[in-house]
Amino acid sequence: MEANVRDSMTGGLRLGIMGGTFDPIHYGHLVAAETARIELELDNVLFIPAGNPPHKIDRIITDANLRFEMVEMSIRSNNNFKVSRMEIERTGPTYTIDTLRILKKTFSDQELYFITGTDALKEMLTWREPEEIIKLSKIVGVSRPGYDSRNVLSKIFKKYPFTKERIYQLEVPALAISSTDIRSRVFNQKSIRYLLPEEVRLFIKTNHLYQSK
Ligand code: ATP
Ligand code: MG
Repeated sequence: MEANVRDSMTGGLRLGIMGGTFDPIHYGHLVAAETARIELELDNVLFIPAGNPPHKIDRIITDANLRFEMVEMSIRSNNNFKVSRMEIERTGPTYTIDTLRILKKTFSDQELYFITGTDALKEMLTWREPEEIIKLSKIVGVSRPGYDSRNVLSKIFKKYPFTKERIYQLEVPALAISSTDIRSRVFNQKSIRYLLPEEVRLFIKTNHLYQSK
């Protein structure tokens, strides 16, 4: 669909939201965001590194400013990618619903598209106010190797039938890359080349990240 036709129908811009811990950011995140941007004709994608995520209290997370810096250097070459400090600057655990409410106020003329991998989509019903989340933003469920979305989606659709029109399934080039695997590779002195941007690899090295568990 032509962008101008689309705008006259929706009356506004489309903003993709890519939340994550990004500890560290890798090509899986970047390919997912770029594919969503192209396929759903998003005007921009906003990366929002988590401050202190409620779901990941089982391990020590890298300082938010360092995670932010790694995101920033990774997206610099893409004019349609932006990064926000909003979750980093909030104290205490941050919830997706709170972030979306703030974004909806800040970008009241933009349609929100929350981009999430199948693994995170699976958890969505356990998040705070899942129904409100799907009302505030459309959901783009991107494929991720090793996670099947069919069961997950049928569960969500059964519980909240209105979500059928608000959740998109998007097939993205399969990259079996995870931050967990990257951290463990660094810890075990294995190569992480070509799994993430070279600048990020060097940043990890310089800052001695992921050398202890
Ligand atoms: P960790 O292993 O620490 O959980 P991660 O690789 O899963 O890290 P997150 O920061 O947890 O990265 O993920 C942020 C978002 O990106 C989530 O929605 C996740 O599903 C998605 N995502 C991460 N890696 C991929 C990938 N390889 N392909 C598609 N989506 C991905
Ligand atoms: Mg994850």
